[in-house]
Amino acid sequence: GREAILQGEDSPNEEDKSLRPQSISEMVGQLEVRERLKVVVDAAVKRDEPLGHILFDGPPGLGKTTFATCIPKDLGVNFQLTSGPALQAPKDLIPYLTNADEKSILFIDEIHRLPKSVEEYLYTAMEDFRIDIVLGEGTNARTINLQVKPFTLIGATTRSGMLTAPLRDRFPLREHLDFYTHEELAEIIRRNSRKLDVTIEDDASLEISERSRGTPRVANNRLRWIRDYVTSKADGHISLQLARDAMAMQEIDALGLDNQDRKYLTTIIRVFGGGPAGVEAIAHTMNAAPETLADEVEPFLLRTELLVRTPRGRMVTTKAVEHIQTHIGR
Ligand code: ADP
Repeated sequence: GREAILQGEDSPNEEDKSLRPQSISEMVGQLEVRERLKVVVDAAVKRDEPLGHILFDGPPGLGKTTFATCIPKDLGVNFQLTSGPALQAPKDLIPYLTNADEKSILFIDEIHRLPKSVEEYLYTAMEDFRIDIVLGEGTNARTINLQVKPFTLIGATTRSGMLTAPLRDRFPLREHLDFYTHEELAEIIRRNSRKLDVTIEDDASLEISERSRGTPRVANNRLRWIRDYVTSKADGHISLQLARDAMAMQEIDALGLDNQDRKYLTTIIRVFGGGPAGVEAIAHTMNAAPETLADEVEPFLLRTELLVRTPRGRMVTTKAVEHIQTHIGR
């Protein structure tokens, strides 16, 4: 494939990059998603057409960006990256659309954060590959309609519920990424230990996977920390005991919750009598951003039934109360 062009200020962070799979075949898990992608990719290649637009949604760290970067590599086409918050006005989008080669991929991360004007500008670009450009100013201004090359838009969002129907409907393929199983995360940890040149016992990779909140990015962060820990305190080999000691030092508990997760649960228990409480009120009490809680903390707590959402707000479950008690009791 050709060299990827990376644009925009917020390219994927360096830490993530070295462990990021370089093709879909190197990815672990998400089998159904990968099979459906294979169908549309094969069909597009056979018909020599651009791939239809694709939307990925799901909590952070589950592989949305990884899919978006692997697809162009597998197809051997150019890649451009930007994000919703970076596109303040239609003019910010124009360079991406005019630079796009035929069949190339334009990736917009956090697409739910596009301003309305930019979103509407995207509609005709996505549908007819045409855009309006205003030349000149004031009474001299005139609009020209420009044809752009047929490209593929890949959008990623942590909040598919915040997307408008017209935008969502313009993606023929929409894929939801769900949390990974322990076995899948253990496989990612084993592979990445090799990439990071560190040896690890099988029971240690399983233990780390069980404490990684179903999320590859969390698993990678745990692994990097434990690798530092065993390099500093031992001979650089990851045993079960050393993995446990390292995670204890970071205050990661048996369920994989960290301080922020527990603080969220204890706030609801102590301040709001277990709930129901609104996320804004919880965030205010914790001095945290409501978006961070909704994006990064709540999905896993909901998934593991430590938290429930009711029409009147968030409530902790008995399981959460018991977990917090045993944690504090230790
Ligand atoms: P998102 O865009 O959904 O927030 P990323 O694609 O950035 O998540 O994933 C975070 C990191 O997790 C990646 O850098 C990659 O190393 C790892 N990762 C994600 N999905 C997978 C996967 N299916 N297989 C292996 N590693 C993965």
